[in-house]
This record gives sequence, C-alpha cells and structure tokens, in this order.
Amino acid sequence: MTYFVPVEEIKFCHNQSFRGNDLYPYIVLCDFDGTISKKDVTDTLLDHFGNKKCEQLEQQWREGRIGSRECMRQQIANMDASLAQIDEVLAQIEIDPTFCAFIDFAQSEQLNVHIVSDGLDYAIQSILKRYKLDFLPVYANKLLHDYQRSWQLQFPYTNADCVKASGNCKCQHRYQLTEFKKVFYVGDGASDFCIADKVDLVFAKDKLIDFCQQYQIPFQPISAFSDVVTALPNLITAESIHC
Ligand SMILES: [Mg+2]
Ligand SMILES: [Zn+2]
Repeated sequence: MTYFVPVEEIKFCHNQSFRGNDLYPYIVLCDFDGTISKKDVTDTLLDHFGNKKCEQLEQQWREGRIGSRECMRQQIANMDASLAQIDEVLAQIEIDPTFCAFIDFAQSEQLNVHIVSDGLDYAIQSILKRYKLDFLPVYANKLLHDYQRSWQLQFPYTNADCVKASGNCKCQHRYQLTEFKKVFYVGDGASDFCIADKVDLVFAKDKLIDFCQQYQIPFQPISAFSDVVTALPNLITAESIHC
C-alpha cells in the first residue's frame, strides 16, 4: 500500500505557533488564489502535471455537477509529478506586489490576518515562505505526497452542510470567529461566495464583484491589496482599535 505524508510536514516541520494568535479585535480573512497570488496555483500545477481527466473534472465543476472538493480530490490524485517538479513550478508563482505592504500595515494597526483558501496548503506555505510571510496562519486543503510521483488531497475544513461543497468551506471558518468585533474579507471568485454575506465588509476583485452586486452584499471593489490599505483606516476608527 502506498504511504502518503503531508508535504508541509516533510518540508517545514510546522509547530503550534504557526497558527498565530488572535489577540486583536479585527481580522482580515484573505483568499489566496487570484487574490494574493496572481495566478491560480492549483490550475497552474494541473496545467503542468495534470492529464485529460483533470480537464473533464474541471468541466464538470464549471457546469455545477460536482463541488470543488470532489473536483480537486480527483484532479490531485491524477497529478503526476515529483516534489522537486512541484517546487520548481511553485517557485515561479508571484503574488500581488502590494501584499507585503498590506501585512506591514496589518501588523502596525494590530489587525489579525488569516489566509483561508480552497487551494493547497503546501503550495501556499512555500510561496509565502519565499516572500518571508510564512508566519501567517493558513487554513487550506492538505496536500499529501507518497515520496514518488503521486499526490492526495485531504480536507480538514470541509462542511457537509454548505451548498458550495468546497474543500475548505470558508463559511465554516467564519462561524468560528465569534470573538472579533469586525471581520473583513478579501477575495476574487467562486470559493469566496459562501462566506461573502457572513462578514462585515468584502473587498472584492473579478467575479466576486458581480456576486456581491447580484446579492446586495456590502463590498468595496479593489484591484490590489494597496486599495485595502487605503480603505481600512476609515473603517476602523483610531479609538476603537486602541481601547
Ligand atoms: Mg480566489
Ligand atoms: Zn461554505
């Protein structure tokens, strides 16, 4: 029997402190793919290492016949690559150049930041590490490897009740954040739909803009994280944050 191991454990040996500590009254939840990263990481990996079946699954997901959880579970199982090959592709993936300044701003303003992604934990962590941002808590699907060329995906944050049938159900994550005064969300696409109406304000790009407009969800359109840095001070009053 093939033995699969979480890749983050092989590479990073994460300890408890990685999950961060939620000391402050405000939190900004950030999607990763297409929001922090310029390209969708899973799609990029499948372009390199996927097969015909991966494309068929993508089509079924687009038509709404399967959720992203089932789609990605099978796509990742169809991927053929060594860990070194995966790392090589991940090393080319760039992030929004203003994201680092946003994190500096969040730290100076005492805002918690969590990354909530329906993508691959190891991919996100290795990209963040390249930008020295790997201290950020990441909630994503767990990528496993067999030390050969096979891959699996596990879903620690799934929610059987969610209509989206995502791998990482972001609305489920939201329900656990009861202690915050305000929850902001930054996202761009379908994996953000089920959380968008459950936060105080959405910063939206691309498809998420249309979704927020359609369902009258409070949002501000952004083109980069620099727009979030511009908007947030007016949304968080100086007295409430330092009290
Ligand atoms: Mg996205
Ligand atoms: Zn959900």
